Amino acid sequence: MKKKQFKAESKKLLDMMINSIYTHKEIFLRELISNASDAIDKLYYKQLAENITGLSRSDYAIWIAADKDARTITITDNGIGMTQEELENNLGTIARSGSLDFKQNNESKEDIDIIGQFGVGFYSAFMVSERVTVKTKAYGSDDAFCWESEGADGYTVTPCEKADYGTEITLYIKENTEEEDYDQYLDEYRIKSLIKKYSDYITYPIKMNEKIRKELPKAEDAGEDVEAEVVYEDQEVTVNSMIPLWKKNKKDITKEEYTRYYQDKFVDFNEPARVIHNTAEGVVSYTAMMFIPKKAPFDYYTKEYEKGLALYSNGVLIMEKCPDLLPDYFSFVKGLVDSSDLSLNISREMLQHDRQLKLIAKNIERNIKNELTKMLEDDREGYKEFFKAFGSQLLYGVYSDYGMHKDVLQDLLLFYSSSEKDMVTLKEYVSRMKEGQDKIFYASGETVEKMDMLPQVDMVRDKGYEILYMTENLGEFALMMMAQYDGKTFVNVCADDLDLTSEEEKEALKERNEKSKDMLQKMKDAIGDGVSAVRFTGRLKNHPVCLTTEGALSIEMEKTLNSMPMPSDEKVKAEVVLEINANHPIAAKLEEVAESGDEQKLADYAKLLYAQAQLIAGLSVENPTELSNLICGLM
Ligand code: ADP
Repeated sequence: MKKKQFKAESKKLLDMMINSIYTHKEIFLRELISNASDAIDKLYYKQLAENITGLSRSDYAIWIAADKDARTITITDNGIGMTQEELENNLGTIARSGSLDFKQNNESKEDIDIIGQFGVGFYSAFMVSERVTVKTKAYGSDDAFCWESEGADGYTVTPCEKADYGTEITLYIKENTEEEDYDQYLDEYRIKSLIKKYSDYITYPIKMNEKIRKELPKAEDAGEDVEAEVVYEDQEVTVNSMIPLWKKNKKDITKEEYTRYYQDKFVDFNEPARVIHNTAEGVVSYTAMMFIPKKAPFDYYTKEYEKGLALYSNGVLIMEKCPDLLPDYFSFVKGLVDSSDLSLNISREMLQHDRQLKLIAKNIERNIKNELTKMLEDDREGYKEFFKAFGSQLLYGVYSDYGMHKDVLQDLLLFYSSSEKDMVTLKEYVSRMKEGQDKIFYASGETVEKMDMLPQVDMVRDKGYEILYMTENLGEFALMMMAQYDGKTFVNVCADDLDLTSEEEKEALKERNEKSKDMLQKMKDAIGDGVSAVRFTGRLKNHPVCLTTEGALSIEMEKTLNSMPMPSDEKVKAEVVLEINANHPIAAKLEEVAESGDEQKLADYAKLLYAQAQLIAGLSVENPTELSNLICGLM
């Protein structure tokens, strides 16, 4: 029988595990029990969903047996089992390849405790075993298969006999070594204490046989000095209490227990940023245990990511990921809801319309918002880290559905502030507004540094106003959708309706623009379609030129929208105006050239200034060769 090789990553992980001088080898049992419990969940849920009358809940169980002479531990479940294909796919490859990436990226930090923190599933069996066999029969199938492996050098899969569906895993425990006592894992009491320690909350009974001492009744004619005969009978006992973590009293749960649950269930090496655990009673009763992750999962911003909370009815799983429990803008939240008000036999379709579920979802949204608000107040650094990971999602939430959710979300947003040089909330901005200020100023650009250098920013900042920098593409879209906060409108410092000049200044500017009308029109013609107008401005302090936009679309928004895939004739165009600093020497110079009647020179200057303004705004110039020639011509 030819051995099959493990997939490359799995092999590495196996090597790592087998050779690790890892001290918490004992977690292997937790991992195998957790797999067995998942397999029963799957079958139980399948039977519910398909309305099959299968076993009743109490008939599902996990059995553990140890045999000291044979040096084996056997873990048996009556869960869903595996087909031959599933056996190959599930045990020939490592499901949690994430753990391997992590290990490789942290090679320097030798002692990183990934296994203890997080578990590596089935493979942990090899930490204590020299050989492992898995006999399994998929629910609904007539064929059973046996997977067998001695570790890194491969595995075999052969047909075998197995009466019932489910899975039976046998570990052939290693011989003791000088450093390592493996015999302990064959000891009944030790096994029981491991089950208590790690798997107490598993919702199916974990059963073991206990030898019960029995004295047989003495024969009637036996004398005083004849001892009663003693026999030991096997009796099945349930070792775990079966109370799920979330049903325990909150004050009896340690931080480590929450963390372990989170890391194990949601495949994350990090601790959760926050744990939300509450019980509601009233119109609907439910317990929710939710986690806010520290970092976004690698697939979070892809369409593969599925949001949702697990849904339990009185401790029994009815759905692994119920999307209706979480709004999209809180899709990063992990966890579960357990409610006895929900019927076990409820179908997915019915769930969507279920009134109870809608109420629970509403409450949960509030719970999450409150927790985030608390975090913002009592752990600003943590919140900033959270916002780095999930801020885009919140901004998108403000923007989507025509701004319907802005009230929920607006106080959870953070923006970079020009004056604080840090992330601030809108509330904080408004509380610092200058007397008479009725607008919230913002700029948008690729980086804080680039925006800091924008001429328009320079001028507004110079007048003593705080500016919010939108480094997220979505930031500006979100503000547009909100239109205002606390009665103050949002104004892009690069927009033409930025009204900070005095009446006299305005009047003077108007005259100047009127006077140079012809010149400005000629300049516009020289530049072409790139701008809709050229004019003098009083809004610039030191810089000669800038680009501003008229209408709803800003330059940053144009960039974002046009970077999305769409046909080229549907590209959008911001209405761009080239503004020239009326107080800059260049203004006088232009007027002088216009006066002299040198049209070519005026056209060249117009193109040069336009190119400068484009570069300052973070745009690329359309014709770099022409620009280069123009500059050389001048030199
Ligand atoms: P994980 O449990 O994180 O997916 P494992 O390596 O522990 O990773 O298990 C890999 C897969 O093997 C599981 O996802 C499951 O599909 C399957 N599996 C493991 N144990 C069992 C079992 N007792 N019954 C049915 N399937 C199992």
